Amino acid sequence: MPEGTIIKALSGFYYVLHDHQITQCRGRGVFRKKKVTPLVGDHVVFQAENEREGYILEIKERQNELVRPPIANVDQALLVFSAIEPEFSTTLLDRFLVLVESNDIEPVICITKIDLLSDEKRAEIEQFASDYEKMGYDVLLTSAATLDGVESLYDYLNHKVTVIAGQSGVGKSSLLNAMKPELELKTNDISSALGRGKHTTRHVELIFVQEGLVADTPGFSSLEFMDLELENLPFCFPEMARLSEECKFRGCMHLKEPKCAVKQAVESGEIPSYRYEHYLQFVEEIKQRKPRY
Ligand code: GDP
Ligand code: ZN
Repeated sequence: MPEGTIIKALSGFYYVLHDHQITQCRGRGVFRKKKVTPLVGDHVVFQAENEREGYILEIKERQNELVRPPIANVDQALLVFSAIEPEFSTTLLDRFLVLVESNDIEPVICITKIDLLSDEKRAEIEQFASDYEKMGYDVLLTSAATLDGVESLYDYLNHKVTVIAGQSGVGKSSLLNAMKPELELKTNDISSALGRGKHTTRHVELIFVQEGLVADTPGFSSLEFMDLELENLPFCFPEMARLSEECKFRGCMHLKEPKCAVKQAVESGEIPSYRYEHYLQFVEEIKQRKPRY
């Protein structure tokens, strides 16, 4: 039986990509009895009726599943931040990173609108980029206006399913348009003023960018740590997770424990102090989270 990936779901039809072709499928088979709804991004087994139509018979086990946008098997999140307008914020970046890490999705950091930077501001941004690279992240500096760095984005997107995330107005749609996807998207100059997407439910679709698939709807719009357990938080900071074997205590939370390798790294400047401050801030936030019922 052929297998493929759902790239679009609309009015009971699922559009399954396989061998550079798309087959329009309906659902049929065991997954329906289990009340599992196929999601965009699902890997499925299907039966072709003819060249263009078929039936989905089985949904393969999901690697992960996002709620907003509803999409399965996301490989990576492209976290888009503007260097300026709105101002670059490590607090917000760390928040996105934790959410992405806790969903087992690989983050790629993209700082865009670099054409708007003065030399002084540019040096500042480059220092942040270097900090995050030391932590183990990939950081790309781009501009949708000059197309600086856009080429290097392709290498990250090829052969993967990517969700783009970031605040409104940072330049997500401009960047996606600059990558010439096979579908034109509108930049949201007007719609952001109208509170885009607040009350409208729209479908999500995976679109082609060269050899990659990118969700056309931004992800991680809610930045609250709803499902994150406190003891998992240290693992969402990879540079701390790597050091934790050197902490005296197993399961060290890097708070008040003595002989903590993470705190030593913060003191020596190996881990930037802002990074550790955000960690402490998120610890408090998770501790104070109200139970959800
Ligand atoms: P989104 O809400 O994240 O999708 O942001 P948009 O792509 O709609 O961009 C928001 C605003 O920033 C628009 O006015 C864009 O023209 C502008 N913009 C986006 N990227 C760049 C860039 O690289 N350089 C400059 N100068 N402006 C940009
Ligand atoms: Zn520790």
